[in-house]
Amino acid sequence: MKVYPIHAILKSPLAVRRDRQSNRSHAADAVVGTVLRGALAHLYLEQKGDADETFQRLFLDDSTCRFPPLDPGEGVLPTTAIACKRRPGFVAEDLAHGMADQLWPRIADSVARSPTVRDLLSSGRQCNHLLRGVKCGADMKNLDGFYRHSGNGSYRRAQLRTVVATHVGIDRVSHTAADEILFSIEAFAPQQLGEKATEGKPTVLYGRLEAEDDVAAELRNLLTEEQGILYLGHARTRGYGRARLTIGEPMANQDPYAGWQEWSDGLAKYLAEIGAGGLDGEPFFFSLSLPNGAILVDALLRYTLDLAAMVDWLPPLPDPCQMDHVLDLPPQSLEGGGTIRCLTAVTGHERIRGWNAAHGLPRQDEWGVTRGAVYAYSFEGTAEQRIRLLGRLETLTTAGTGLRLNEGFGRVVVSDPFHMTFLKQERTT
Ligand SMILES: [Zn+2]
Repeated sequence: MKVYPIHAILKSPLAVRRDRQSNRSHAADAVVGTVLRGALAHLYLEQKGDADETFQRLFLDDSTCRFPPLDPGEGVLPTTAIACKRRPGFVAEDLAHGMADQLWPRIADSVARSPTVRDLLSSGRQCNHLLRGVKCGADMKNLDGFYRHSGNGSYRRAQLRTVVATHVGIDRVSHTAADEILFSIEAFAPQQLGEKATEGKPTVLYGRLEAEDDVAAELRNLLTEEQGILYLGHARTRGYGRARLTIGEPMANQDPYAGWQEWSDGLAKYLAEIGAGGLDGEPFFFSLSLPNGAILVDALLRYTLDLAAMVDWLPPLPDPCQMDHVLDLPPQSLEGGGTIRCLTAVTGHERIRGWNAAHGLPRQDEWGVTRGAVYAYSFEGTAEQRIRLLGRLETLTTAGTGLRLNEGFGRVVVSDPFHMTFLKQERTT
């Protein structure tokens, strides 16, 4: 499968339904892959009338097509991202005190045995931004959401303006306003405000579609028939969710190995610098991130947060009560040589809800892994064994993990450069 960047320009407000049970405030501020797949499948049935073999290939086979979530930005902030409690955000944003990432310090924390390293790490939880020569000093808090790269290499959070519209219920018998029925719909505004009131920009949502060539061509044909217009989300009969969807040209394949090695070397250097050694030999470090979240189940089909339940060569997460003693646990041996340990993980559950259009009923809730979850591991072995590990990692990035892959869940990113770039809090001065 190739990766196709896609974007949707909103032509009317897009209703977003938040999950009140979610513990991450922005978790629902995106259109899940399930909704995109449903909208395109609806187009297909309208145009062709029948769920034939091509329909199966387009919408039901995760080895030929995977529909991504549509997000306000190209990137999802990892669960390890932190920012000043008083002025959160990247430095490129107005008045923000800069972003930092806690993955590497957390790894240092789990492998170090000396208390001095601990003190060093807790100081990273205070904002280092200088205000007229004085350190801000406010707490750094976890920050979730999405980000966008701008042309000059800087990052910005991507937040969309939402609007709330109040509607009057209509009596089904009399077709007049119903008594005591008033409801409101929260939606992404089709226009974002510019610097001046007259400079509104259209709202754009981003995604990355994975598809075979013929599948992408077929999806493009479906859209061309409708001049690219698609209806997404809830309240479509009230005019919500009209969007123009474009499937771009496939992205070029890049050799990932160099980046992974740089990440591992960078982390080894950082650990040596702060005196948080403790791992024998020259381990190869890597992290696994789940930017789209995932639905992981164990052998008994119970929901789990542990990647090891689905990827048999990964070691299980350490017992959270014994996080201090990661190095005292025996590492797991890999088939084909070498050993591997789980160093740390920042993950959480997210309830995944859905609607089954064919049955006209809500889908059963599932408990998935939250978007942006991160897991970190170290590997010990000979150069040859390491090459075998890299092969395994590459397979994991193309295959993904968990259930409902063609709705965008379970995409895996190895050694996200975000953790390296934001190791130190960004400086505004
Ligand atoms: Zn601050």
